[in-house]
Amino acid sequence: MKKQAAAVFEKLLSAYDRHHSIGDITPTFCRLFGITEPECCGAQAIAPVVDHAAKIFGGEGKTERALLFCTDAMGDHQRELFPEAFNKIARVAGLRIPSVSVSPSVTPVCYGTIFTGTAPVVHGILKYEKPVLTVETIFDVFAKAGKRVAIVAVNDCSIDRIFRQRNIDYYSCRNDEVSFARTMEILESDRYDFIVSYMIGYDAAQHSFGCESPEAAAQAALAAERFEILAQTMDKYWKNFNRVLTLVPDHGGHMIDEVHGAHGTELAEDMLVSHYYRLFEKSRESK
Ligand SMILES: [Zn+2]
Repeated sequence: MKKQAAAVFEKLLSAYDRHHSIGDITPTFCRLFGITEPECCGAQAIAPVVDHAAKIFGGEGKTERALLFCTDAMGDHQRELFPEAFNKIARVAGLRIPSVSVSPSVTPVCYGTIFTGTAPVVHGILKYEKPVLTVETIFDVFAKAGKRVAIVAVNDCSIDRIFRQRNIDYYSCRNDEVSFARTMEILESDRYDFIVSYMIGYDAAQHSFGCESPEAAAQAALAAERFEILAQTMDKYWKNFNRVLTLVPDHGGHMIDEVHGAHGTELAEDMLVSHYYRLFEKSRESK
């Protein structure tokens, strides 16, 4: 499984001339927390992130809290369309990792890869469908290691469906606003070590009104604003912990007619994304 996945990633990296795939998230967070990666994982931990963490946290595996903000369809094409929003994200994060998505570039296939570290042919979601994954995921290995894990997402979306039946908590929300409010609540009460929080807004707007429409622009700006709020909230309520905030888009998107945006192809507009990492050391006074 590992070799098969590694071969798929290798091919994608060379085809799109990138050093990292979206699947690298899983081995990277396993290294950050000092947890063994899922058995099917064929992706590779991102050295600049792991090294930076070891440097500022004083060793490997010393991350204590993480929040992964999954902004659907906020790829590198969107980064070109909305420089202001993405500059804000980059400023807040500090570290940008240009990455390549997987094919077909649709949400359940991509997040399936992101949270298993393996290729679609191994995790089994090969098209737009939302079965519960049967391979080992990052959620399984974190739960097994005693970490408290939560997924906060809009009801019935891919992330809400494909990672069910794990020993973690699921917050299935009516819309993005409720989902963001829940995320803030559980951050403030420090109930979890590892939180995945999903935002569907930009993707929904690009499908309905176009990638560059005012509606889509507003959602991109909102995602950047929420990323900044999450960083500030973590600094307040997680200040006693080594912490990581990451922006985790799944794919990008492009125009398919005069009005509508979409994704799912192997075009660069769909396949190229960047993941943003913000690492912060626990406050020294509390040590
Ligand atoms: Zn998506």
